[in-house]
Amino acid sequence: MIKKMLLLFVVFCFVVVSNSFAAPLICIDPGHGGSNIGAVKKFDGIELREQDINLDVAKFANYYLTRAGYKTVMTRNSDTDVSFAERAAIANRNGAGAFVSIHHNAADNSSCVGSP
Ligand SMILES: [Zn+2]
Repeated sequence: MIKKMLLLFVVFCFVVVSNSFAAPLICIDPGHGGSNIGAVKKFDGIELREQDINLDVAKFANYYLTRAGYKTVMTRNSDTDVSFAERAAIANRNGAGAFVSIHHNAADNSSCVGSP
């Protein structure tokens, strides 16, 4: 009996959620930009700057999210300075339901791997 009630409850929740669910607008925030370059790492003689990688990853995410039917807004689309307040204002102005800030780290110690 309890299993049947639980199953009905799960089905009910699914129906309620699926009928009223609208994907939230996603605000994609490529961290740093402009004079704020973020982490820097030389790799095979090439200087990698966090702000550039963040922007590339954000554009990639934006492409696939919009392709999947999500509405998105980016806090920056080029190498520009955007203050924290303006980033939040962009999200709020557009009614974002989710805010994803993209960052990457760098370390001089080559034995460092992943996160704990
Ligand atoms: Zn960062």
